[in-house]
Amino acid sequence: MNTTLFPEIVLNWIDGAEKGASDGALFNNLSPATGKLLCQGVGSKQTDVEKAVASAQKAYSAWSGMTPVQRGDILMAIARHMRANAETIAAIVAAETGMAPAAALGETGGAIAQAEFMAGEGRRLYGRTTTSAVPNKYAMTVRHPLGVAGLIIAANTPIANVAWKVFPALICGNTAVLKAAEDTPATAWYFGKLAHEAGLPPGVLNIVQGLGEDAGAPLVAHPDVAVISFTGSTAVGRQIAETAGRRLAKVSLELGGKNPLVVCDDADLDNAVKWVLLSAFSNAGQRCAAGSRIIIFDAIYDEFREMLITQTEKLKVGPTDMDDLGPVINETQLNNMVASIDQARAEGANVLIGGGRMTDPEHADGFYMAPTIIENADPGTGISTQEVFGPITCLYRAKDFDAALSMANDSPYGLTACIHSRNVHRVMEFTQKVQAGVAVVNAGTYGSEPHMPFGGVKQSGNGSREPGTEALDIYSNLKDIYICVEPDLI
Ligand code: NAD
Repeated sequence: MNTTLFPEIVLNWIDGAEKGASDGALFNNLSPATGKLLCQGVGSKQTDVEKAVASAQKAYSAWSGMTPVQRGDILMAIARHMRANAETIAAIVAAETGMAPAAALGETGGAIAQAEFMAGEGRRLYGRTTTSAVPNKYAMTVRHPLGVAGLIIAANTPIANVAWKVFPALICGNTAVLKAAEDTPATAWYFGKLAHEAGLPPGVLNIVQGLGEDAGAPLVAHPDVAVISFTGSTAVGRQIAETAGRRLAKVSLELGGKNPLVVCDDADLDNAVKWVLLSAFSNAGQRCAAGSRIIIFDAIYDEFREMLITQTEKLKVGPTDMDDLGPVINETQLNNMVASIDQARAEGANVLIGGGRMTDPEHADGFYMAPTIIENADPGTGISTQEVFGPITCLYRAKDFDAALSMANDSPYGLTACIHSRNVHRVMEFTQKVQAGVAVVNAGTYGSEPHMPFGGVKQSGNGSREPGTEALDIYSNLKDIYICVEPDLI
């Protein structure tokens, strides 16, 4: 067990204090890099969730009654405290995910940038003033918080996922209950510790550890939770939308992707190879924005495939800064990936490189998936249509631009997309016509910057956008105010 960065038993934060589960339940959190036990998390159930929601309700009046500038000052203090402790945050992220320390520090920097951006919104939080059709009538909108926000996150980028939800929810004046991802409980726990040390009043942010069905589902169903913001799989997102929809709670869903990257015959092929590798394999492919469908013009397909295989062979897999990608988050996910590839093989696809768990002595104990490239997969089969969320990508041939665009759009998902071309006409047409929330030219299937809205179309979400100022629309209600002036009374 790792006892220097976090406790052996990672507790909940409720009303500013650490609490165990009412029934004493615990779950194991294993290191993806070694397969060994890192810590245990509290197995919260409905009773614990109810306590967390009650704590958030109790804190709501005082927190929502502060000015946004005052709230922003506290959130900025948390951001500064995160910066002062960035190395520790990154060490915990690296321990829980197996990602390289430098990558974990980069993610931590992104989380802090998000915190700073949202803290600054305390001095903006704009409504608008506008005209009225009626003389002597003045029209404006102001923002009001919703109440208690229920925040549920995935483990893939654990501190960024916390920051993307907590800071916009709190700056708007909501109090919150965060259901941490069960694979990264210590990251969320440590964030709670830093937030309270920096001056966040008790109860404003409550953090419950636990499994999805046990701790996430009761949060979604709780009648006093006004908004649910969820980052995770499309299957769970659909369940959440159904449950929350029955009680008409507001819902924001940031879901999966099957993101296309098109390489045209006029592309800079070296640059395209570099970005395909990053898009497909960085963070071991555990990015909603991962490039999992590489659509290559026929004219350069063979040349590009060879370049890609050559560079993929050079990738180093492991948990250090010398490695290109680390393990995947847990053994169940790893087994699902292997099963998807086996199914693809059975359906006629060829595995060009990789294709299974890494079982050599250096990798055998951890949850390491070999970077995998597949070709000849039927576009209608599972490997082409379903998110695998690992270092696995498929190559497809396109005869021309129209075919490539049509293949890019032939997906139930629509999160990110990318094109490599030097032709302004192609890139303009692609960025306009591709069905995605993010379209990129000559780089990777990457989003997002703290001040830019991120989210997808089709089954990648329900239309909401995080982060950017657009995230404020999730966590606030608009109120129209009309002020009518009586000229006779002036
Ligand atoms: P998941 O849906 O299995 O779990 C995500 C979270 O939901 C976890 O905290 C889990 O405990 C909780 N959960 C599970 N079942 C629940 C239920 N019935 N009710 C309430 N909560 C429940 O997803 P995962 O496999 O952990 O994460 C990977 C997924 O997240 C991928 O699909 C990926 O694309 C997606 N993701 C999306 C974005 C985005 O911004 N669009 C970002 C990161 C990850």
